[in-house]
This record gives sequence, structure tokens and C-alpha cells, in this order.
Amino acid sequence: MTWRATVLTLYPDMFPGPLGHSLAGRALAENRWSLDTVQIRDFATDKHRTVDDTPAGGGAGMVLRADVVAAALDSIAADAPVLAMTPRGAPLSQARVRSLAAGPGATILCGRFEGFDERLFEARAIEQVSIGDYILSGGEMGALVLLDACIRLIPGVMGAPSSGDEESFETGLLEYPHYTRPYEWEGRTIPEVLRSGDHAKIAAWRKSMAEADTRLRRPDLWERHGGDPVQSPSGARRKNGNE
Ligand code: SAH
Repeated sequence: MTWRATVLTLYPDMFPGPLGHSLAGRALAENRWSLDTVQIRDFATDKHRTVDDTPAGGGAGMVLRADVVAAALDSIAADAPVLAMTPRGAPLSQARVRSLAAGPGATILCGRFEGFDERLFEARAIEQVSIGDYILSGGEMGALVLLDACIRLIPGVMGAPSSGDEESFETGLLEYPHYTRPYEWEGRTIPEVLRSGDHAKIAAWRKSMAEADTRLRRPDLWERHGGDPVQSPSGARRKNGNE
């Protein structure tokens, strides 16, 4: 069964964009996933094809109209979860990506301007998703990120079915560091243990590196993983999930 991506956007020409290349592009050509775009503007009702209006209460920018976006959404089959890109959403996680990839597909709403009229989220079942704590100019890049993360997990897209299993976040930790030939580069050599051929020793080294790097770089992940609390430079104890 083909994993089905539907993107609602004011800029359909942005798709498939980068997803037309490499692994995702090949998988698209092989029909392992499909892509449909919906031009939100096609659902505007006035002669100027207006999709936005000024914010109630005043302030800068424009807001996407709930009636127009809902009409666009209602025009498509409701067989996949609907996600809206917004910095106000739940941070996207590898666990959510994995569950989306295992499902029928994803329908993604891309915002522009100041975002969506809030009533849209009250009136329709829409999961609000953020790709990180920074502001993009539109949801299209977020949709590409979300789709890329899902597509690589669709069966048959990545070479070996197991090759995603050790990736950062899959284990709750960052992945261990990688090395490849040449053995010596600018006076630096590959860690000896990786050349030992001792698979148990290599696995133990990788595990300890993954733990040490996660503790150092991502104390939030480390503590969520159940690691010992990491002292911040000020000496204040971090709370789980807090930056
Ligand atoms: N005024 C809004 C930001 C609007 S940015 C706010 O402060 O919350 C315009 C659009 O870009 C959003 O509607 C959303 O679709 C997209 N966008 C911006 N940042 C994003 C992020 N971190 N994650 C997902 N989508 C984002």
C-alpha cells in the first residue's frame, strides 16, 4: 500500500522539492509513497481569492481564514491524520514520526503569515506540530522535514530494514560517532577498538560513547532516558524535560 502525503499550501510548487531527490525521490518514483498538493487559494470564495485577513484585536501581519482552510481540508479524503505546522504545536519526535510512517500517510496544513485562525483547531481534528523552537516563514519547510523523516522509514525505502534502528533518538540517546577510511587523517587516527574486530567490545564502546555524548550535549534527553541528573554550569539541578 502506498503511503500517502497530502499537503495543503499556498505554494504547491515547493513540492516535492528536495523530496524529489535521493532516497525519497527514488521511493516516490517507485510509488512507495505518493504526493498530492492542494492549493488553499482554490477554496477562497471572493473574486480576489482572499485567504487571509487582518488579526482580530489588531497587530501586525495577516491571519489565514478558518473558513477557507477548512474548505480546502474538507475537500480531501479523511483517511490519514491531519497535522498543521505551527510553532505552537507539540515538538515533532522520532516516536511520532515512526507512528505516522506506520500509518496510511499524513495530511499536512502549511501556515503562512501569522498562522491560522484558532477556530480551525476547535472545529476540525487537527494535530498541531512544531519542528523546533524557532520561527519559519511558512509551514512548507516543516512539511518537508516531517515527510522526509517519515518517508525514510517506509518499508523498502532505506536499504537494510534495520539500518534505522540505531539512529539518534531511536534508543532515547544520541548515536555514537562514526569514522571511515582513511585510517589516518591530519594526524588523527580511527579509535583502535573499531579496528579490533571484537564485536562485543565495539558494541560496548559505542554504547558508552552514545551515553557520554548524550549526557554532555543533550542533558534533557539524558535525564529523560533515566540517566543521573546533570549539573548545569550554575550548579542548578535540571528538571526533566526542561531546557
Ligand atoms: N505568528 C506565529 C508564527 C507564524 S510563522 C507564532 O508566533 O506562533 C508562519 C507559518 O510558518 C506558521 O503558520 C507555520 O505553518 C510555519 N512555522 C513557523 N515556524 C514553525 C515551526 N517551528 N514549526 C512548524 N511550523 C512553523
